[in-house]
Amino acid sequence: MRAIAFPQMTLVRPVVIDGVGLHSGAPVHMVLHPMEADRGVVFRRTDLVAQGRDVSDIRATFGNVVSTVLSTEIGNAAGTTVSTVEHLMSALSALGIDNLLVEIDGPEVPVLDGSSEIFLERIEAAGLEKLDAPRKAIRILKPVAVEDGQKRAALLPGEGFSIAFEIDFDNPVIGRQSIEADLRDPFFAEDILRARTFCLRRDIEAMWEVGLAKGGSLDNAVVVDDDCVMNEEGLRYKDEFVRHKVLDAVGDLALSGLPLIGRYEGCRSGHAMNNRVLRALMADPSAYEVVDFAEARRPAPMARELAISAD
Ligand SMILES: [Zn+2]
Repeated sequence: MRAIAFPQMTLVRPVVIDGVGLHSGAPVHMVLHPMEADRGVVFRRTDLVAQGRDVSDIRATFGNVVSTVLSTEIGNAAGTTVSTVEHLMSALSALGIDNLLVEIDGPEVPVLDGSSEIFLERIEAAGLEKLDAPRKAIRILKPVAVEDGQKRAALLPGEGFSIAFEIDFDNPVIGRQSIEADLRDPFFAEDILRARTFCLRRDIEAMWEVGLAKGGSLDNAVVVDDDCVMNEEGLRYKDEFVRHKVLDAVGDLALSGLPLIGRYEGCRSGHAMNNRVLRALMADPSAYEVVDFAEARRPAPMARELAISAD
């Protein structure tokens, strides 16, 4: 049998992850299982399976996103949902895992430390397995952008998968931050996936009043007061905030179902804009093509045109 240059990947063995849901505050038990080729990432609600309800499986794709308020939530036609999938999806994307079954006994992926670090560590410790099928990719052929007031998100042609992000918060601790990252660079796994989710103190208090963020604490989020970080340990990076926005974007874009080849640019963007720009790309058949991953490593012709016109 001829070796496949870029095979699809899964896990070698199951990985168990326990934690609490950020919004429910309830304990969550999650098991990541190896999965055969061409299945993608599928979430299975084991609490519903236990009730004998055949409504449990949800494929992790952009078209199944049912809410983008505070986190990215996916659902199926039967109304079964799983929320806060983005930090796990970001780790899977960085590791290049194509196929996985995620068994979970509640409606929310555990928040852990508010970053993707624990997912990354546990999955790396288990090890990855090559499957006997070539990896496919979505190559972006022309720019697609969405805007909403000052928020903007764009997908563009390019080599590999690079990200540029900018935030501008009316808060002296966060302020204006921008970053460039490339998913192929070890920097991504080491210094993007460790960035924690964050919120303003006044927002967390408002969420508590309406019964949200019940599991939220200084152990799983950076909480910013008017002019200081409330966490005793401080920040992991001076620009941890924009780094986490990159982490979220990679997780949200992983819902394309295949690795993206191109570039993402976000300005004040969030889960809603990330999903909108992905839907806009996939709605235009002339904006992308599905190719063998090996082939996709060549630059798209459009990328050169853009590079020239940007000078
Ligand atoms: Zn996040």
